[in-house]
Amino acid sequence: MATINTHYRKLSAGYLFPEISRRAKAYQESHPGVTLHRLGIGNTTEPLPPAVLGALHHKVDLLGNGATYTGYGDEQGDTPLREALSGYYRSLGVDMLPDEFFVSDGAKSDAANIQSIFGDDNVVAIQDPAYPVYVDSNVVSGRTELFDKEKQQYGKLVYLAGSQENGFFPAPPREKVDLIYLCSPNNPTGAVATHAQLQSFVDYARAHKAIIIFDAAYAEYIGDSSLPRTIFEIPGARECAIEINSFSKFAGFTGVRLGWTIVPKELQAENTKSGELHAMWFRRQVTFFNGASNIAQAGGIAVLGEEGLAQSRAIIAYYMENARIIREGLRSVGLTVFGGDNAPYLWVRTPDGISSWEFFDQLLNQCQVIATPGSGFGAAGEGFIRVSAFGHRENVLKAVESIRKNLRLRKEETR
Ligand SMILES: *Cc1c(COP(=O)(O)O)cnc(C)c1O
Repeated sequence: MATINTHYRKLSAGYLFPEISRRAKAYQESHPGVTLHRLGIGNTTEPLPPAVLGALHHKVDLLGNGATYTGYGDEQGDTPLREALSGYYRSLGVDMLPDEFFVSDGAKSDAANIQSIFGDDNVVAIQDPAYPVYVDSNVVSGRTELFDKEKQQYGKLVYLAGSQENGFFPAPPREKVDLIYLCSPNNPTGAVATHAQLQSFVDYARAHKAIIIFDAAYAEYIGDSSLPRTIFEIPGARECAIEINSFSKFAGFTGVRLGWTIVPKELQAENTKSGELHAMWFRRQVTFFNGASNIAQAGGIAVLGEEGLAQSRAIIAYYMENARIIREGLRSVGLTVFGGDNAPYLWVRTPDGISSWEFFDQLLNQCQVIATPGSGFGAAGEGFIRVSAFGHRENVLKAVESIRKNLRLRKEETR
């Protein structure tokens, strides 16, 4: 008889986005003809820029010609792309070798798969609130106990809570942990770690031989040049950190699919030989993955070229202008807003002490605006909602206008 991986039964219901759709649909059905304003999604909306589009078209043409057709490429990703990535990191002030990059079909799969090279007995720490894949991949691989509905937490996981007091970026744990997932700029809070904050995690990791898995998917949204765009800006990180990144939010590749993971040669865990973890991830990828689409990789090379970078950054600036419009609009009605200055997410405190879902319903019913309840990202997200700056400008303006006109707060919030 076949048996199943029963750890899957521990997963708390994937409740957030289906529940948002259910409530939006119910509202729409009872208010036909009313337009909903969606500020909930973490999905890009603006078209690919010309330099990238040209490269994608050109690669398709090469595939259509017998003289230039290519099949499987290098396992780790096409060499010109890995060289371009290495050059991009050099422009951030960091030297990473082309063969420390592993090109993938996106950051989410790498974030889910990376745990497979670590032992089942590792104690895992994650930020709370967090992008769900870090937790869920460790749940199904058996590194947690059951989900405690009361606490809204899995047993055995170490939660590092973000709060207003710590600027939504927690300090390292007091107890000893082995794997630490960090995301900066953060989804959902929009918080960005400083050099000092990341240094404290690197120091912790080196002291405890822990490994940091650093998700930098929103690094290009950092406008403040004093903030780190990669964990490898931090001295000592090459021994203790893996970085996961993506072209999804960087260049609108959410549907095209392309990402990368950096495993430095010096990375060490308990009793590993020099280069062993790098070799293990190589082995994992060549065994279970046959490479990212060669069309997508041609697009990625174009993103990292001079024109592609400038055009992609212009689109990021457009989203960040959306973020500014949303922030000012929400503040003008008395809401308390965090994030949104170096990340495309705003983290908004619910007014009048109501819950995340109550504020979701209030925004839906009074303003026809859809946001994302913070509690869906973890217990520490309760009392907040996430507002996304992805969207066409005209829709963002309409959403903000509707909030300004229609939101009724019980009491004036402190700003
Ligand atoms: C969107 C997002 C990603 C990107 O995932 P892809 O699979 O590359 O599309 C990664 N991490 C976080 C935190 C994200 O929000």
